[in-house]
Amino acid sequence: MKKNVACVINYGCQMNEYESQTVSKMLMGAGFEMSSNPDDAEVVILNTCTVRDNADLKVWHKLEHLLPQKRRSRRQKKIGLMGCMVAAQKEALLLKHPEIDFLITPAELQSIGKVLADVTARRFEDYSTYEVLTEGNAAAHRSYLPVQTGCNFNCTYCIVPAVKGREVNLSSVEILNKVHELVSQGVKEITLLGQTINSWRHEGLRFSDLLSRVAQKAPKIWIRFLTSHPVLFDEKILDVMRENPNLCPWVHIPAQSGSSRVLKAMKRGYTREAYLDLIGRIRETVPGVCLSTDMICGFPSETDEEFEETLSLLREVQYETAYLFHYSERQGTVAASMQESIPEEVRKDRLSKMIAVQREVQTEIYPRFIGRTEKVLVEAEAKRFENQYKGRTAGNIPVLFQHHENKIGSFVEIEIKEANSQSLFGDVV
Ligand code: SF4
Repeated sequence: MKKNVACVINYGCQMNEYESQTVSKMLMGAGFEMSSNPDDAEVVILNTCTVRDNADLKVWHKLEHLLPQKRRSRRQKKIGLMGCMVAAQKEALLLKHPEIDFLITPAELQSIGKVLADVTARRFEDYSTYEVLTEGNAAAHRSYLPVQTGCNFNCTYCIVPAVKGREVNLSSVEILNKVHELVSQGVKEITLLGQTINSWRHEGLRFSDLLSRVAQKAPKIWIRFLTSHPVLFDEKILDVMRENPNLCPWVHIPAQSGSSRVLKAMKRGYTREAYLDLIGRIRETVPGVCLSTDMICGFPSETDEEFEETLSLLREVQYETAYLFHYSERQGTVAASMQESIPEEVRKDRLSKMIAVQREVQTEIYPRFIGRTEKVLVEAEAKRFENQYKGRTAGNIPVLFQHHENKIGSFVEIEIKEANSQSLFGDVV
């Protein structure tokens, strides 16, 4: 263990990523050097997720690995947890590992500065002092910007409302100030974050109004938003996307299942037909739009035929990207007490089938980009070849290209020459 070294390990969603990076910045502000190796660090923070059971398992395993180090260091090493798993399993964590130094639920995050000060005997600023500072929450050219926390839906499989609470929206003034701050720091892309972002409302404004104001406040940079709920996706959002070229033509709109019966059991609030109707309107209104989804297979009582409907939805919509999962039981949710749970091997088999179908879809649609010139924001070096870089199109499709100059953080025009099921490949124009 090295003194004055800290490590924050992130699990889970973009919101967690944002929070982990902000806490890393706080630790640096208090004099810590950041490391990606928890074995080296004096302070280790695990920012946990509890949406799926493998996220929980990873944290339990990490604790089994780290806590003996704490004992060997005579408790000099400090280990803390933050995030959704703390809200869901605080008692279990304390019972099994009482030597953990601190546990911070999402609702308590604003007090993390005080907690860290108590544990490390150093001076920490408030969390809000660091929030949104570019270096603290993203690579310098891209930033997440949470505009909403919590969720007012009650999908029967989901633990989020229990751990994050009811929806709370930031005001448009606060959001626009943060956008201004990020733009002045040179950010090239901002992703607005919310659990059901299109439900954002504040003082008579709707999400489409907010989107329009953000787009106009930052006309030279790319704006993205996620996650959209199909029930609340009004046409005005599409009009604003069509009218503002800096709003990326990309909509992450989870279907979760292709079966209306399963959607009802999930309490999603729409049918397959209504969802497909919405997809049609999005494709019609926003030219060249790319779509992505989250999809769950193996929900309790899902039949083979209902699962086939999910596969057929993937084929029919032809999402450019998809995040595919098998159902994972979360204690405390309605679905956890449902009868007819699907055996794990069946869930895994269905997941492999979903992945294969989505790969077929991408193999079919990515070559359509060959011959086009796409604007790409360069994100990082690609490790495979020398001078190879990776970035994303406005539609959020990965692109790889080679160039003698380091273009990270710049927009480049790439002529697409090749494609496989994962990425596009091209040359700088
Ligand atoms: S909309 Fe449903 S799945 Fe999404 S966070 Fe809310 S409860 Fe969970």
